[in-house]
Amino acid sequence: MVTANDNGFTDKAYFCPACGSSMVDIQNITDSTNCKVCGWAGNTQDLAAMPFSQEMGSPEQVLKNLTLDIRGFMSKGFSLEFIQLLRKWGFVSEPLDPKEIARYMGSIAKGLALGLIETRQEIEKENIQA
Ligand SMILES: [Zn+2]
Repeated sequence: MVTANDNGFTDKAYFCPACGSSMVDIQNITDSTNCKVCGWAGNTQDLAAMPFSQEMGSPEQVLKNLTLDIRGFMSKGFSLEFIQLLRKWGFVSEPLDPKEIARYMGSIAKGLALGLIETRQEIEKENIQA
C-alpha cells in the first residue's frame, strides 16, 4: 500500500486533521507526528495532505491562498446566503455586527478549504485502495 511517506514531503502540504494548522512536526523515521498548535498526535497518513508546487509557497501559504480564493467567491455572491444561514442557526442576531460577520465568513472559507483538502485526500486513499 502506498502511504503519505512514499510520495515524499517535498511536493505536498500537510495540515493537522484537528485544527488545520500546517505546524505539524513530521517524524519520518517513526511515522508519527504531532501538531504544535493544538497538540494532536497521530500517524503521518492521518494528516490532511494537498499536493502543491514550490511556486505556491509554504503549506501555510497554500491554505491561506485557497481560503482567500474562497472568500473572494463568497464576497461576490454567497455572502447573503451565508448570513441568512448564520441567522437561521442562531450564530448571529440583529443588529448584525459587521466584525462578527467577517469573522464567521473567514471561518467558513477556512472550513471549506480544509474540507476540500480532506476530501481530496479521501479520494486519493480510495484510488490507492481500488
Ligand atoms: Zn492541530
